[in-house]
Amino acid sequence: MKESNWRIEHNCPQCGAPVTLNEADRILLCPYCRTKLYLVPGDCFRYYIPPPAGPSPDTIYIPYRRMKGLSYSVEESGVSNRFIDTSMAATPLRGIPYSLGFRPQVFALKFVSPHTEGIFLDPHAPPPGTAVIPESLVSYVSAQASTLSGSSTPPPPSFLNAFIGEMFSVIYTPAYRENNTLYDSVLRRPVCSLKTGDLDRLLASRTPQNWKIEFIATLCPECGWDLQGEKDALVMICKNCSSAWKYRGNKFERVTFTAITSGDTASHYLPFWRMKAQIAGITLDSYADLIRLGNLPKAVTHTFEETPLYFWCPAFKVNPALFLRWARQMTIYQREGTRGDLVPGTHLSPVTLPISEAEKSISIMIADIVTDKRGIYPLLHQIRIILTECLLEYHPFIERHRELIHANMHLSLDKKSLAFGVRL
Ligand SMILES: [Zn+2]
Ligand SMILES: [Zn+2]
Repeated sequence: MKESNWRIEHNCPQCGAPVTLNEADRILLCPYCRTKLYLVPGDCFRYYIPPPAGPSPDTIYIPYRRMKGLSYSVEESGVSNRFIDTSMAATPLRGIPYSLGFRPQVFALKFVSPHTEGIFLDPHAPPPGTAVIPESLVSYVSAQASTLSGSSTPPPPSFLNAFIGEMFSVIYTPAYRENNTLYDSVLRRPVCSLKTGDLDRLLASRTPQNWKIEFIATLCPECGWDLQGEKDALVMICKNCSSAWKYRGNKFERVTFTAITSGDTASHYLPFWRMKAQIAGITLDSYADLIRLGNLPKAVTHTFEETPLYFWCPAFKVNPALFLRWARQMTIYQREGTRGDLVPGTHLSPVTLPISEAEKSISIMIADIVTDKRGIYPLLHQIRIILTECLLEYHPFIERHRELIHANMHLSLDKKSLAFGVRL
């Protein structure tokens, strides 16, 4: 699977030296003054492609919405998946290219700040009837894609769609106006002709540009030590007081975690989310309910009737098929194992998928596990899921030639598939 990889250039807030960041980076580590800062965007990350002729207050920036993540759709035959990695024009201007294509990979991007010169058009919502929520954006993207490809067959109706997002951002590409035509500043060619009032209407609805990235010192709120984490880690670790932290609101907030122990010596620890949920619309409270739902080869005992049901899924980036396979296997396995509350000393892979996105996997897992698809699928849209508990679990893995083996479950994970997100 080919993945896009955007570079963002920024000057170190401490010493001013140029630093190149990857799109997924959450930590800025200055190679010159060694400053380490955690990046906190406002509502989302906003980037722009700098105009080749240099900054100008007359530059008009056209917005594109950036979406990257795992997309699932429940159809009659079962759950289908695909990886979405796209940028989509977010302006009502007619004639604007639908997508930015490879452009963001060719040019180094910059963060938009209140000091960036130019006119930033407001990214508009998808057409009426589709609210700006990722699921509807996904169906909007699919619909646009099939219109563009000239396909007349509508996509098969789905019982449920879910999008587990790794990245949502807005990217602006520069343009300038000459008479009644808008020109692309990068390619220096016309993008669209402007009808009278088109641009003025857009400019009138523009909101003030006060977006900025905040840079936060990575110090443990508990003991003051330097927090550890890979550049793209969403959860930072304090090895001194064995605590885990995520940034929410305007501060680092403690993340409850546990490390599963194993008899063998683990060489790697991979993060998973363990989730408990209140589910309305279907009976799914205990492990026994799951056995019945999936017709699992296990006898329903009184103990299982009393055993609360947990859902697991990877807290790292992996392709959509593997993500669902691991979520399914761990949820069916439902074994908690012996646990410790110390940060494992050996290689710890970073959390790169937030719980807010991970929890969307629960409905897809239900659709994947259920055997009575005909009976349950039409009811899927009525199921309401409220997350009541979540725990970050580090699971032990043993390294083999080409794969990592879960030390307790003995399931294997091809190292190549992990190259997708996790560094080994
Ligand atoms: Zn610096
Ligand atoms: Zn600490």
